[in-house]
Amino acid sequence: MNFHILTLFPDLITTICGTSIIGRAQEAGHLAVTAHNIRDYTADKHRRVDDTPYGGGEGMLLSVQPIYDCHRAIIDSINQSSQRRGRHTIYMSPTGKVLTQQRATELSQMDNLVILCGHYEGVDRRAVELICDEEISVGDYVLTGGELPACLLIDCVARLLPGVLASEAGHQVESIASGMLEYPQYTRPAEFMSLSVPQVLLEGNHADIEKWRYRAALELTKRNRPDLV
Ligand code: SAM
Repeated sequence: MNFHILTLFPDLITTICGTSIIGRAQEAGHLAVTAHNIRDYTADKHRRVDDTPYGGGEGMLLSVQPIYDCHRAIIDSINQSSQRRGRHTIYMSPTGKVLTQQRATELSQMDNLVILCGHYEGVDRRAVELICDEEISVGDYVLTGGELPACLLIDCVARLLPGVLASEAGHQVESIASGMLEYPQYTRPAEFMSLSVPQVLLEGNHADIEKWRYRAALELTKRNRPDLV
């Protein structure tokens, strides 16, 4: 899968997505993350990409022209590539629908995800109307820019792609995807600061371990996310 990010801060994207599992997955060719600098597409002679909002109000808005031209260039490059099945453009925004595991799974079927990151007070609405298929929020809070939300979406989708995780079945038993929160887990040592690992996990009886895990997961879900039960 190819991720194309429209951003004013490409280094943020390449640094985060070049690290750890997603970085290794890129090296192995399972996915590619390309950050496109919106500023490179501005027609303004001073390379400005923002302006004050019509009607007044706080802060600056990203202008429509550089975003539109940057997106046009990305679409042209996708159309010339061999992977042009399933192209979808998303604006990361607190005004979008909140991201879910279900939506990430659907998006993982695409060949190309194009992601617009806003900044300052956001973007000229016409940019969203002209280029975006969907708006996605990462939660009911406001951040300074769309770059961290974009990386969050990339991470969430990328780990569902074949070859990215060591164990393909891993994500099906995890919190949320399984319908509950995951049971608590432990590793060596068996005792630390007077806290012991539950005895059942040390005894090797797999049926008992499964039962214990189910009960522990249910308890945790009731306590932290009763809406899932
Ligand atoms: N004025 C906007 C509003 O009230 O909806 C908020 C703009 S925010 C300061 C700047 C940018 O950060 C947004 O354009 C968006 O790209 C990103 N952003 C902030 N919070 C976000 C969230 N919860 N989910 C996704 N993107 C977010």
